[in-house]
Amino acid sequence: MLYSERFRVAPGSKIKLSAIDPSFKDKHESKESAEAENAEHARRLGELQFLLYAEDRRSLLVVLQGMDAGGKDGTIRHVFGAMNPQGTRVHAFKVPSQEEAAHDFLWRAHLHAPARGEVVVFNRSHYEDVLVARVHDLVPKRVWSKRYGRINDFESNLIDGGTHIIKFFLHISEDEQLERLRQRLEDPKRRWKIAESDYTERALWPQYMEAYEEALARTSTEDAPWYVIPANHKWFRNLAVSKIVVETMEALRMKFPPPRVDIDEIRRKYHEAARHRPGRRSARSRRR
Ligand code: AMP
Ligand code: MG
Repeated sequence: MLYSERFRVAPGSKIKLSAIDPSFKDKHESKESAEAENAEHARRLGELQFLLYAEDRRSLLVVLQGMDAGGKDGTIRHVFGAMNPQGTRVHAFKVPSQEEAAHDFLWRAHLHAPARGEVVVFNRSHYEDVLVARVHDLVPKRVWSKRYGRINDFESNLIDGGTHIIKFFLHISEDEQLERLRQRLEDPKRRWKIAESDYTERALWPQYMEAYEEALARTSTEDAPWYVIPANHKWFRNLAVSKIVVETMEALRMKFPPPRVDIDEIRRKYHEAARHRPGRRSARSRRR
């Protein structure tokens, strides 16, 4: 079964995140058994991104959401690292700057949306405005409750402009999050990532899950689907995300554009004619 069907939130369906096993690993026993498949996805992703870039007709927007330590950064490094930096961009959404906060909530998302030929990954996204904003009452309910519809309209507008959108929720358990935070404390190279908010937000886990459930249910559409990725095993998360991106891009049936010049004529004019120009020694005779 295609992973793009298996992990998709069917448009219009309610979901219960507590019923989805974050430790799921399909048929794989271990990281090692998934390695060959992961390597093949990486190779394909490189090819497909090059095709998208060459075509220069449409674009891909990948939204990554998840709790702290959910694996957003790791997914970017492991999965999207396989793409050419020329034509690929990552944008991380932080607490809105003064300038961003002075605009409507979708302004900054639109600003960083992909141009034709580009792959853009949103590390967090406009969905923060129905997640953290809702959980912390940053705006009143009458404001955030209208945003689901606004988000769907915004994404439809991007889709009409040739952007394909896929959205991933990296689903980890509370225990796994605590373990990852503990590992960060122990690791001198990763301590810098720790924020006290990682722990205070953790206390709001049920409120966040409720906010995610509503966002996933109301904004998973036919053309901009959400996927819930079991993410307790980092290697399975990478496998599932890369597989879905490959499947999505393959479904675009991209082709290299035709050459912009007459190849035969160019060959004749600049390659063959040059070789026969009188007085010019051929490369072969020069070498002698
Ligand atoms: P990190 O992803 O660890 O770099 O943290 C970014 C922080 O910015 C997270 O705590 C997000 O919840 C927060 N953030 C992102 N977007 C918004 C927003 N629209 N409103 C408030 N906080 C936000
Ligand atoms: Mg963080």
